[in-house]
Amino acid sequence: MAQCRITEIFYSLQGESRTVGLPTVFVRLTGCPLRCGYCDTEYAFYGGQKMDISDIVEQVAAYKPRYVCVTGGEPLAQPNCIPLLTALCDLGVEVSIETSGAMDISKVDPRVIRVMDLKTPGSGEESKNRYENIALLESKDQLKFVICHREDYDWACETLAEYQLSDRCEVLFSPIHGELKPADLADWIVEDNLPVRMQLQLHKYLWGDEQGR
Ligand code: SF4
Repeated sequence: MAQCRITEIFYSLQGESRTVGLPTVFVRLTGCPLRCGYCDTEYAFYGGQKMDISDIVEQVAAYKPRYVCVTGGEPLAQPNCIPLLTALCDLGVEVSIETSGAMDISKVDPRVIRVMDLKTPGSGEESKNRYENIALLESKDQLKFVICHREDYDWACETLAEYQLSDRCEVLFSPIHGELKPADLADWIVEDNLPVRMQLQLHKYLWGDEQGR
């Protein structure tokens, strides 16, 4: 029986992406090969509990959700994340995955909405970006830049133009919580008339860094 190592499964509001504010079940897989300077889920790097995929699906289904988000850590660091995603899609719910952009996304079930980061220089993990993934993104997917400061913003603008990202899928610019003033990022986006959506991390405003929220 295929298993995944799981840190937590919980029901909350989606804090980011196009489904922000909608009740969503989160399945947080354990482990991440990256070490972003601003990481707020370091508790998911180690530990966790091995679970059969069928048990994970059963636990998710018990919430009767409309939306399920597979996250981490970096969920795709576990090979069995791929069959888990397919099993969750088979529930007939909308399934998304939050991934760092450092792992191959080509094997992900086509029904899954891929919310993929491109790591900025401010993350300290820019060198891990797997740019080949960009060509695999479709209009249902979303590409996210977490912006730490003006240098990150400038880098994100250059990358946006170089890969014509907004022609491929929705692009999200998100200020790092507690570091970059959201109003500054908003002003820059408007001044530059960028084809991106700014987002704030709703869960941080509601619950701070509380685990399982
Ligand atoms: S990819 Fe995500 S989970 Fe991994 S270190 Fe970066 S922010 Fe944390």
